[in-house]
Amino acid sequence: MVGKPAQIGVLALQGAFESHIKTFSSIGERAIPVKNVDELMEIKKLVIPGGESTAISMLLEANDLRSPLIERLSQGMPVFGTCAGMIILSRSIIDGRDDQVPLNAIDISVRRNAFGRQIDSFESELKVKGHKEPFPAIFIRAPIVEKVGPDVEIYAEVDGQIVLCGNDSTLVASFHPELSNDTRIHEMFLSIGN
Ligand code: GLN
Repeated sequence: MVGKPAQIGVLALQGAFESHIKTFSSIGERAIPVKNVDELMEIKKLVIPGGESTAISMLLEANDLRSPLIERLSQGMPVFGTCAGMIILSRSIIDGRDDQVPLNAIDISVRRNAFGRQIDSFESELKVKGHKEPFPAIFIRAPIVEKVGPDVEIYAEVDGQIVLCGNDSTLVASFHPELSNDTRIHEMFLSIGN
């Protein structure tokens, strides 16, 4: 795969970016870590990984990435947010930090750490729209989607709570598909915007 230009970038400021890069590589797609504007301009699609949404938001500012990222998103660059990434891409955050301003790439309101402290992490066999076999989803201090706008399609729920949804150029997951040995959600993302 060396020499093949990378189409996919994974925001690599904090969090679980390495596992996304490995997942893409397991399906023959080269992904590069994105830490600065030059790298952001090189790629065609972006993943914002799980981690700590407050830290990633601050690091976007500190690395002068916030405005260029908003610009690329407004031009329709496909983006995939997992867990903290979902929070950062939302329209509004419930239980966020006061100075945490999301990127508004998808018309959803999300609640941080929505499953409570007792169940910090768990696994769930997720029924995903369009897939027969359940997806083994790993949730770690996960957010849920409390409200969606009319252009948002819902792909999966846990106990009636939305955990996977998207619009024309955005896919967001409450869980960590990069930690499961199953590449179907990443393949779903690859089919966006083609
Ligand atoms: N609770 C974290 C946050 O608010 C997200 C957790 C995760 O990405 N696994 O950013």
